[in-house]
Amino acid sequence: MKRLVKGGRVISPAQNLDASVDIVIEDGKIVQIGPDIMCPEAELIDAAGLVVAPGLIDMHVHLREPGLEAKEDIYSGSRAAAAGGFTTIACMPNTKPVIDNAILVSGLIRQGKLEGAVNIKVIGALSKGQEGKELAEIGDMIYAGAVAISDDGHWVNNAKLMRLGLEYTGMFHKTIISHAEEDSLVAEGVMHEGAVSAMLGMKGRPAVAEDIAVARDIMLAEYTGASLHVAHVSSRGAVELIRQAKQRGVKVTAEVTPQHLALTDADVTGFNTAMKVNPPLRSRDHVEALLEGLKDGTLDILVTDHAPHAFEEKDVEFRYAPSGFAGLETSLGVILTALYHTGQFTLPEIIRFMSARPAALFGLDGGQLIPGAVADITLIDPDREWTVDSRNFYTKGKATPFEGKKLKGKAVATIVAGNLIMQNGEVKI
Ligand SMILES: [Zn+2]
Repeated sequence: MKRLVKGGRVISPAQNLDASVDIVIEDGKIVQIGPDIMCPEAELIDAAGLVVAPGLIDMHVHLREPGLEAKEDIYSGSRAAAAGGFTTIACMPNTKPVIDNAILVSGLIRQGKLEGAVNIKVIGALSKGQEGKELAEIGDMIYAGAVAISDDGHWVNNAKLMRLGLEYTGMFHKTIISHAEEDSLVAEGVMHEGAVSAMLGMKGRPAVAEDIAVARDIMLAEYTGASLHVAHVSSRGAVELIRQAKQRGVKVTAEVTPQHLALTDADVTGFNTAMKVNPPLRSRDHVEALLEGLKDGTLDILVTDHAPHAFEEKDVEFRYAPSGFAGLETSLGVILTALYHTGQFTLPEIIRFMSARPAALFGLDGGQLIPGAVADITLIDPDREWTVDSRNFYTKGKATPFEGKKLKGKAVATIVAGNLIMQNGEVKI
């Protein structure tokens, strides 16, 4: 079947394209792009007043499958992704059991094709059981289709193991994604260490824990020549270390989340467990450094770190609550509200961070709108005003720090391989 996406503002940063053009889709691919295309036999998708972007890609999602399906599974998580405008998501391996072997990687890829509403990519663990002792089957997992390697959830404490992981992963031209927080400094901390934690009497997770972890990982990446991707950067020191490393030619890239850009530790004062996340929401000076880092190319991509938990797990005292919250269905709205509508970033810049750049970094299909490319497309209404109501979420994890917040900007349609799978917030498959 042919489809014609007509009348929109098409933005594809990979081609420096920002123009009023139409797109014809056939057999899951883009076949034609140009002004005023007439194609009477095609089904029309009216994009008047909308931005037409390459499908959004999220490289940091916890789908919780296998083993933790009370929090999320492929079915629910991928529908949350579709609702949020994502066409490709990559799932982290801190599941039960941990995704640390080729059988699990290929099983999840197969399950993703069967049950997933969007493209599901799999990230394999660096160490067996994510215990930080012995390397996992990195080569086998990459052959089975793993797109990156990570012990996300915690740092790889053992420098020798991290070195081996980098050397081994580098041989396959893949990247290690590091959750950079030095263990001993954050052991009992529940929020950013600073004036607010002191006032609340809460144990802190100091920014220096992140700086130390990032510094060591950069040194090992530089020493081995392998590539490193720093997950959810949140500290000013980490931004500066990554900036300097990039200037030296170290193969380091980095990501940042909407929550670390839009919120601060002051938001924790109400002890709302939806504000608890690792690394923690930091103070304003760190947020300013993150925005600068995103602007000057130090930080490469935006990710959600979608980390859903069951309601009863989050419905406890702050210090006992698990860290993380749902992000797929609020990410674009938060980013457009905090970055675009404040005049700090343009739409092409944001689409680069959320689609073109992650596709290029991790060698994924999509991320661009050109004839021959897969027809993964997101239609965005940048001015649509809406209020976050977690009762409407597709994810099982209803906790969100943005509950009740008014946002401006929303994905209004998601097209995966030419199929219209979400329209006006409703997932159709
Ligand atoms: Zn993490």
